[in-house]
Amino acid sequence: MLRQCFDEFTRSFAQACFLISSTGIILRSNAAAVQMLGQGGNLPAGRNITQLTTTPAEMVVRYLKRCLQSTEPVPGALRWRTGTPGHEADCYCHGYRLLISLEEKEPVLLLYCQLREKVGNSFAALNQTLENLRVSHHKLIHKSNQLTNEILEREGVQKKLIEAHERLMTVLNGLDAIVYVADMQTYELLFLNRYAIDTLGISGSGVGEICWQTLQKDQAGPCSFCTNPRLVDTEGNPADVYRWEFQNTQNDCWYDIRDRAIRWIDGRIVRMEIATDITKRKKSEQVLEQKNAELENFTYAISHDLKSPIITIKGFLGSLVSDARISNFERMEADIKRIAKAADKMQALLDDVLELSRIGRLVNPSAELSMTEAANEAIEDLAAFIKEKNAVITVEADMPPVFVDCHRIREVMQNLIENAVKYSGSQAEPRVEVGSKVLAEGQCAYFVKDNGIGIEAKFYNKIFGLFEKLDPYSDGTGIGLALVKRIIELHGGRIWVESTGHGSIFYFTLPQPQTAQEE
Ligand code: ADP
Repeated sequence: MLRQCFDEFTRSFAQACFLISSTGIILRSNAAAVQMLGQGGNLPAGRNITQLTTTPAEMVVRYLKRCLQSTEPVPGALRWRTGTPGHEADCYCHGYRLLISLEEKEPVLLLYCQLREKVGNSFAALNQTLENLRVSHHKLIHKSNQLTNEILEREGVQKKLIEAHERLMTVLNGLDAIVYVADMQTYELLFLNRYAIDTLGISGSGVGEICWQTLQKDQAGPCSFCTNPRLVDTEGNPADVYRWEFQNTQNDCWYDIRDRAIRWIDGRIVRMEIATDITKRKKSEQVLEQKNAELENFTYAISHDLKSPIITIKGFLGSLVSDARISNFERMEADIKRIAKAADKMQALLDDVLELSRIGRLVNPSAELSMTEAANEAIEDLAAFIKEKNAVITVEADMPPVFVDCHRIREVMQNLIENAVKYSGSQAEPRVEVGSKVLAEGQCAYFVKDNGIGIEAKFYNKIFGLFEKLDPYSDGTGIGLALVKRIIELHGGRIWVESTGHGSIFYFTLPQPQTAQEE
C-alpha cells in the first residue's frame, strides 16, 4: 500500500526519489531515479544504496542513521554511480523517516535527491523542490498513519476472532460426537475433533485431507449423499441446520447428524457436521422390528396351522354322526381315530408354541455339560425312532464340555439328531455323526452331520425361521430349528448349516467353561 502511494506521488517528479529500508535496501524508486542511475528503466530489486553510491559506505550508513533518528528531513550529499563509466551523479539529498510501513512493520526512509548541477546556485529552485517534497512527505505520512490505524484495528478484531475460534475448537474437541469442518467447494477438511480422529482411526489430524476419502469408504468422488446443496439457500448463504441419520460406510456405525453451513475464520462458507453415535438405539430398533415381524408371522402361522386339524376334526365329526345313524361301527372307529390324530397334531403344535414362548428366558442356571453325554442321552430318547429308520449314529468321545443351561442344550442335541434321522430321505443306510471341530478363529464348534436329503444353499437361513418347512407335506411343525437357534443365541453362540448335496451338517458354538466363567 505504502509502495503504491510512493509510486503515485513520485511518478511525475523530475528528481530521483527512493523508498529505503532502515538498513539501506532500496524498496522502491521512481522513474527519475532509474534514469539517474542509468538502469534502463529496471532498477534491480533488493540492492543496497551503499552499492549504488561512491560515497564511502560508512558515511552513507551514518547518514541513514541520522535520518532514522530525526523527525525532520535531514539534508545530506551523496554521489551516485551512473550507467556511464567514470560519470557520477553528485546530489543534494533529503532523507525523511516514515513512521511505519505496512509491509515492513518498521520505519522506512524516503530519500529525495537533486543533482547539484541542476540545482546550481538557484536557491529559489531548491526551495520549490523542498516544498514539493514536504507536501509529498506529509501526504505519505498521513496515508501511512491511516493505514497503520486500520491495520491495528483489523488486527484487534482478528485477534478476538481467533480467540473465539480457538475457544470453539476446544469445546468441539471435548465433545463425544464426530465434529468436522470441510470446505464446501474443494471438500478439504479444515478441522476434525479428537473423537472423530479416534473413532474413524485417522492418522494425524486429518486436516488437509479430502472428506469423502477420509471419512467414508469406497467413494470415487464426492458422496452421492452429501448434504452440501441443502446447507445453503439460493443466494449461497448459510441455511438452517439439516438433520438426518446415516450409517457411516467407514465404521458401519449409525449417526444422528446435524449439518450446517457456517462462516469459517477466514470468511469462506464451510460445512460443519456434528454426528452422534446412535448405533445402539438403531440396533434395538432393528431387533424390535424383527421381533414384530416374527410375531406377526407367528400369529399368522399359528392360526393357519391350527386350522387344518380343526377342519379335519369337523369333517370327521360329520361323518361320525352319519355313521352313528346307520350304526356303522367300523367306520365310526376309523372316524374317531382320524379325529384323535388331528387332535394330537394340534396338541403337538400347541406344545411347540408354548415351548417357544418359554425360551425367551433361560430358567435354569448354567452348569458344565459334557456334549458327548448330551448326544448319547438324546440318542437314548430317540431310540425307537432311530431303530425304525434303521439309522446308525456315531458320537465323538470326550467332546469339549460347555457351560450352559443343560436342559435346553439337550433339547438342541435331540432336535438336530431327530432332524438328521428324519430327513434321511430314501437313504438305505442313514448315518449320523455327532462331533466337534476347531474353527479358524480357534473357537470350538459342535456338529451334527447326516447323509440325508441335504438342503439347497438358498434355504440355509430360511429353515431357521418360525414355521418354515421346505416340504409342506412333511411331518413336523417347522418350529424345531427356530427353537434351536433361539436357545443357541441366548447362550451367545451361533448356528449355521452347510450342505454338499449328500447330506447336511449343522454347526453350532456355545460358551466353554473357562470363557463363560471369565465373563
Ligand atoms: P420340522 O422338522 O418340524 O419341519 P424344523 O424347524 O426342525 O421343523 O426344520 C425346518 C425345516 O428344515 C424342515 O421342515 C426341513 O425341510 C429342513 N431340515 C431340517 N433339518 C434338516 C436336515 N437334517 N436335512 C434336510 N433338511 C432339514
